[in-house]
Amino acid sequence: MKIYNTLHKKIEEIIPIEEGKIKMYTCGPTVYHYAHIGNLRTYISEDILEKSLNYLGYKVDRVMNITDVGHLVGDGDSGEDKMAVAAKREHKSSMEVAAYYTECFKSDCAKLNIKWPDTVVPATNEIDEYIKIISRLLNNGHAYIADGNVYYDTSTFEKYYELSGRNSDDLLVAVREDIKEDTAKRNPFDFGLWFTNSKFNNQELQWDSPWGRGYPGWHIECSGISMKYLGENLDIHCGAEDAIFPHHTNEIAQSEAYLGHKWCNYWVHMGFLNDKNGKMSKSNGEFLTVSLLEEKGYDPLAYRYLCLNSNYHNALTFTYDILDGAVNEYKKLKNKTNSLVEEGSLEEDKFNKYNDRFKKALDDNLNTSMAITILYELLKDNDLNGTTKLELVKSFDKVLSLDLLKKTEVTSDKDSYIKEMIEKRKEAKANKDFATADQIREKLLSEGIVLKDTREGTTYEIVG
Ligand code: AMP
Ligand code: ZN
Repeated sequence: MKIYNTLHKKIEEIIPIEEGKIKMYTCGPTVYHYAHIGNLRTYISEDILEKSLNYLGYKVDRVMNITDVGHLVGDGDSGEDKMAVAAKREHKSSMEVAAYYTECFKSDCAKLNIKWPDTVVPATNEIDEYIKIISRLLNNGHAYIADGNVYYDTSTFEKYYELSGRNSDDLLVAVREDIKEDTAKRNPFDFGLWFTNSKFNNQELQWDSPWGRGYPGWHIECSGISMKYLGENLDIHCGAEDAIFPHHTNEIAQSEAYLGHKWCNYWVHMGFLNDKNGKMSKSNGEFLTVSLLEEKGYDPLAYRYLCLNSNYHNALTFTYDILDGAVNEYKKLKNKTNSLVEEGSLEEDKFNKYNDRFKKALDDNLNTSMAITILYELLKDNDLNGTTKLELVKSFDKVLSLDLLKKTEVTSDKDSYIKEMIEKRKEAKANKDFATADQIREKLLSEGIVLKDTREGTTYEIVG
C-alpha cells in the first residue's frame, strides 16, 4: 500500500518491518468530554486504514491509548489537566469522568462501525513504563529536573524539527502562544515528562516516582504504551494533523532518545473536519456529536459515508446541506444494494476484475472515494449477475463498513420531520379536526412531500 508519510512529505510504499504484518499505533481520545464528529472523522479514517491493510493481506496489530491523565489545557504545559477541569465541572472524580466518556466514545465508534482496536490502554495503567523511560532519559542527558518537574531537553535531539518540517523560529510564530509559558524550561519547546506537586498541588491523580509524587505528561503516554505493546520498532503511527506538533514531534524525540535508534517508519496524519469557524473543536462553534446528529434524525452511517467520499488527508468542511446530500446518496446506494438478489453462480473473472480495481484504489493512498465510484459502477454493470454483485458488495463492505446489505432504513432530519408531521395529522384526524389534518397534508405537498394513506398507515414520497 502507498500512503502519504509526513516524515518524508511524500507518498511512499509501505514496507513492513516484519513481512505481512503491520504494527500500528493510533492516539486515542482525551476522555474529558464527548468526542465531536471532527475527532470521529479521524477515527473513521484510521479504521479505514486498518481495514484496508487487512483487505490487502496484512495482519494488523493495532494499539490505542485512552488519555485519562496528563493532557494539560495548554500545549506549552500550562493550565490544568483537562481531566481535573472536567471533574470539577461535573462534580465527579477524574476516574468517573474517564469511565463515562470512554463508554460514550466506545458507543459512538460502534454507531459509526469503527472497529474497537485490539488493544486499548488507559494511560493511568502504565505509570511504571513512563517512569522507566524517563529514568533513562535523565541518565543519558536528554532530560533535566527544574522546579521539581522533569523536562525533555529538545536541544539534545538533532532531528527535533524533522517531522514538522519547520524550524524553531517558524514554529514559535505558528504555534499557540502558551507554548513558552512554563518558565522552568531551558528551551521554549522543552516539554514535561513528569510533573510533581510544584505544578499543581491539588492534582487528584498522583503516583510516587523517583522525582516525587506526581503524574506523567501527555506525550510520554503514547511512547510508553506503544513501545510496551508493539515493541521497539513501529510501522505506522496515526493521528490528526494537529498532532504533528508538538505531540508526535515530542513522541519521536523521547522514544528515539530512549531507544537509541529510529522508532517509527510511517507517520500518517488525518485532515481536519472544519465548520464555518475553522477547525471543529470542543470550545469553538456548535458541539456536534453523533448523539446530536441522531437526535436530529440522521443515520450516523450517513456521516461515515460523507467522510469516505473525501480524501482522509484533506480538510473537509461540514455543513448540514452537505450531510443532507450524503444522506440522499447513501439512501440511493442502499436501495440498490438492498434490492440485489442471488441469480446464477459467481463469475470469478468479473469478481476479480472489480476486486482488483477496489484494492488498487485503497492501495493508492487510501482513495476511498474512488473505491465508492467502483462500487457504483459494478451496481450499474448489466454484464454482472446478481450473485457476483452481491459477493462484491459483501466483500467491499468489509472495508467500507456501511451496512450495505443490512435491510435498515437510512434516515435524515427530513424523514424525522415528515414522521412528526404524519403523527400530528393522525392525532388531528383522531380528534376529528379534519381542517388541521388537511392543512398538514397541503403544507407537506407544498414542500414536495406526497402523503399516501394505506391500510398499513400513512407513507410518503418525496417528489420535489
Ligand atoms: P482529543 O480527544 O482532543 O485528544 O482528540 C482526539 C483526536 O481527534 C486527535 O487525534 C485529534 O488530533 C483529533 N481531532 C481534533 N479535532 C479534530 C478535527 N476538527 N478534525 C479531525 N480530527 C480532530
Ligand atoms: Zn498520542
